[in-house]
Formats: sequence, structure tokens, C-alpha cells
Amino acid sequence: MPARRLDGKSCAADLEEALKQRIARCKNQPHLAVVIVGDDPASHVYVNNKIRSCERLGIKSTHIELPANSKQEEVAKTIISLNNDKSLHGILIQSPLPSHMDEESLTDLIDPRKDVDGFHPANLGRIVQGRLNGMIPCTPAGVMEMLRWAKVELEGKKAVVIGRSFNVGMPQALLLSSRGADATVTIVHSRTIDVKTECLSADIVIAAVGRPEMVKADWIKPGAVVIDVGINRVDDQTRERGWRLAGDVDPSVADVASLLSPVPGGVGPMTVAMLMANTVTAAEAQHS
Ligand code: NAP
Repeated sequence: MPARRLDGKSCAADLEEALKQRIARCKNQPHLAVVIVGDDPASHVYVNNKIRSCERLGIKSTHIELPANSKQEEVAKTIISLNNDKSLHGILIQSPLPSHMDEESLTDLIDPRKDVDGFHPANLGRIVQGRLNGMIPCTPAGVMEMLRWAKVELEGKKAVVIGRSFNVGMPQALLLSSRGADATVTIVHSRTIDVKTECLSADIVIAAVGRPEMVKADWIKPGAVVIDVGINRVDDQTRERGWRLAGDVDPSVADVASLLSPVPGGVGPMTVAMLMANTVTAAEAQHS
């Protein structure tokens, strides 16, 4: 039997309904600032998606565009002034920044209470401490929400996370193994000796690699749950635009898995929804 499709759009829509109620109870309208530096077309698409979500939910958004040749100090000054702006609850710096900038040190400048991406070391550190009521990185938080929504049992299950980035793989592994989730987690990366064998032992596989369709059907234990985080643009001359989006998981995995998240329409919408959730959480915390 082919895998059930883990529909991120429906899950995100349910989450948005719950968020609308929280927003209605907020003392002040939640307000998100989105900073984009440069003219990377994909980044502009992502930013527009986020702004549209804000509009749908009644979150105020302020869009700040800086030229690609901005100096690091100019972006730093912008962040500091946004930190000091009491009318703002969340700050998002759209990644990637131009290559002459040090993204890490700019992230360090964001007030952790306004860090709706959850990438500030203080927020990442809280996850290690098991304090999960703050700003959690949106993609791994979205994956956890999808698993909860689909009633996937995690306790005692073996999960393999492919990828160890600070924004997806590593926090994902921490969340899956946190108290309450209670999965037993293996982190797989580019130096892992036998990625296929590790995946074959898993009840749940989360692929966050950035390699189109790398995870094959014969890597997956029959009945396993597979979450595809990857978003890769691959050439496809059968399409008018000459490319298509592909995940990190080969579509044939649907023949083996019990549940599979699609690309697009899986983790992507959940990432945006969790950004909205973090913005609402930040607004609630700053006015409590
Ligand atoms: P990243 O920072 O490049 O990390 C990729 C990870 O994959 C690294 O830890 C790397 O290992 C590991 N890796 C690379 N090749 C491997 C291989 N052959 N076998 C095993 N592991 C391998 O990427 P990321 O930011 O985590 O993103 C991963 C994917 O998710 C990308 O496609 C990205 O576009 C997508 N993404 C999607 C969303 C969404 O909203 N859906 C959000 C964020 C990211 P090393 O550490 O050893 O180099």
C-alpha cells in the first residue's frame, strides 16, 4: 500500500486557526520585522510568502530591504534599532546574507526575545536544557508539529536525522530526543560510514541534507515514517520554466513508507506557520 501523504498545508492551516485565536487575545497586535539584504530571487519569494502569512493572520509586518553591497555595520545598526523598537516583537534576517557578511555574528546581535528564527545561541542552548517554551527553530519545530498532528508515536522509536546543521538537523535531533517526545535518535552526516544501513534501522527518518532525492526506497524499513525537509531546484526541461523542486527523498520511497511528507506542500508550509507561531509567542511574552 502506498504511503499516506503527510500534508503540511492542512497541518499549517489547522495551526493558523489556533494562532488566530491567540492573536485575538494579544494585548498588542504581534509585529514582525523581516530584513532582506540583496536581491536573491528565491529569498524574495520566501520573504513574500512570510509577509502574506502575516497578512492572513493579522500579524503586522515591516519589510526592510537593504542593498547587496551594504556593509556589515549597516545591517548590525538596523538590528540594534529593531531590538530597541518596543512596537516590534520579532526580527527575522532572511538567509542567505551576501557572502561578505558574517551571518553568525549578526544573529548574535538579535535580542533573543525577538529571535523568531530561533537561531540565537541563547535560544539554541535552551533546547539543550529542555526548555521548549521559547523560540525554537521553525523547520524542526514544524516537523515536530506535523508528527504530533499525524499522531505519529515517537516514544521509544528509533529516529534517524540526516543532516546536522544548526538550523535543522541538530535542533531536530534534540527535539526528537527531548522529554515528552522520547525517541532514540541517530544523527547522520557526510562523514557517516553507511547512511543506508543507519536509515534502514529507523522507524522515523528525517532527511535534511540538500541533495535531491538522495534517500532511496531500499534505504527505508517497510512502514517507516519519512519526513522530507529538502528543497532542491533541479533541471527539468519537460517544465516550461526548465526546473522543478525536488526533496531529499526519492518519490519511490512512497512504495515502502507508511507516511511521507511531500515536496512541495510538506515541511515548507509548516516552517512559515511556525515562524508565525514564534512571532505570536514573542508578542505574548513581551506584553505579559
Ligand atoms: P546544510 O546546512 O547544508 O546541512 C546539510 C547537512 O547534510 C550537513 O550536516 C551535511 O553533513 C549533511 N550531508 C551532506 N551530504 C551528505 C551525505 N551525502 N550523507 C549524509 N549527510 C550529508 O543544509 P540545511 O540548511 O540543514 O538544509 C537541508 C535541506 O533542507 C536543504 O535542501 C534546504 O533547502 C532544506 N530546508 C528546507 C526548509 C523548509 O522550510 N522546508 C528549511 C530549511 C532548509 P556535514 O555536516 O558533514 O557537512
